[in-house]
Amino acid sequence: MTSQTSNLPTAEQIRRAPKVLLHDHLDGGLRPATIVELARETGYDGLPETDSEKLGIWFREAADSGSLERYLETFAHTCAVMQTRDALARVAAECAEDLAADGVVYAEIRYAPEQHLEKGLTLEEVVEAVNDGFREGERRARANGHRIRVGALLTAMRHAARALEIAELANRYRDLGVVGFDIAGAEAGYPPTRHLDAFEYLKRENNHFTIHAGEAFGLPSIWQALQWCGADRLGHGVRIIDDIQVDEDGGVKLGRLASYVRDKRIPLEMCPTSNLQTGAASSYAEHPIGLLRRLQFRLTLNTDNRLMSGTTMSREFEHLVKTFQYTFDDMQWFTVNAMKSAFIPFDERLAMINDVIKPGYAELKSEWLFPKGVARSM
Ligand SMILES: [Zn+2]
Repeated sequence: MTSQTSNLPTAEQIRRAPKVLLHDHLDGGLRPATIVELARETGYDGLPETDSEKLGIWFREAADSGSLERYLETFAHTCAVMQTRDALARVAAECAEDLAADGVVYAEIRYAPEQHLEKGLTLEEVVEAVNDGFREGERRARANGHRIRVGALLTAMRHAARALEIAELANRYRDLGVVGFDIAGAEAGYPPTRHLDAFEYLKRENNHFTIHAGEAFGLPSIWQALQWCGADRLGHGVRIIDDIQVDEDGGVKLGRLASYVRDKRIPLEMCPTSNLQTGAASSYAEHPIGLLRRLQFRLTLNTDNRLMSGTTMSREFEHLVKTFQYTFDDMQWFTVNAMKSAFIPFDERLAMINDVIKPGYAELKSEWLFPKGVARSM
């Protein structure tokens, strides 16, 4: 074995590596078996499959189909079984457990409280149930030898008119498990500027927010999210590539907006597998993440919807390692970028980087020195 090949992380090492996740939807990450059980318990009879394995496949195929209607239908099913206190707490606890088992040490998980009111819960009850679930999941993970910390992001839907109310809710539960705010939903026809009152309120409260922008819709959406709304981070932001020119000889020229995003170190929440499913990119090799990484944008790597995309943080990294021959140094770069861009206080982010992330990668990088099965006592 040479040090050259040993430097490429194996799937098993990728799973053990400390990872940070900033863009993951609670209603996009349920275990198929849990959906089946919750549907039975809550009397929801709209599932397309009641066998959990077949249901998991159905979710991935619907998300892969290229049909927006089928893609949105997947969330109708997950939200339908997330309408009671116990169901929300269970889904949140399992989310934290699953991420911890995958080596995620810090995660910000987002959901839209307004989508969980069908059976009479109040917005506050939804937030408290999810927070309780995350704390329970953190405890169970610790009992299994994993450490994870999970913060919630409250999402408002672009097409609805409750953004200010949800922003106020995020502010009320700040330091009580909620770390920020997000806006999601169809970009076309629903510019983020419709919700300026919510963003202005959050800025006045010194609070943090990210905006889904530049996924399918192009540069104007990114520009509005940053320059009108003042987003701290961009959900996806992958279309920033439209403002970057690559010449035939490999020369690269950044437009004003792309320069601004890079100069100001605006974090981009990249979700490659999700982009492949929605058609925002055609292959991992052609995904803008390769070029944007070379140009040193502040990139983070994320899952978006683990259930619909059949993915995990480890799988996202596996694709990048395979496609771009990324090393542990690249993995650490993405992970430190994500931790720097998290919405928890600076001293806590720094401690995670210095006490958890860097030692974790140092340990992994040294493993090739001690091949398995070889005595170390020489
Ligand atoms: Zn998303």
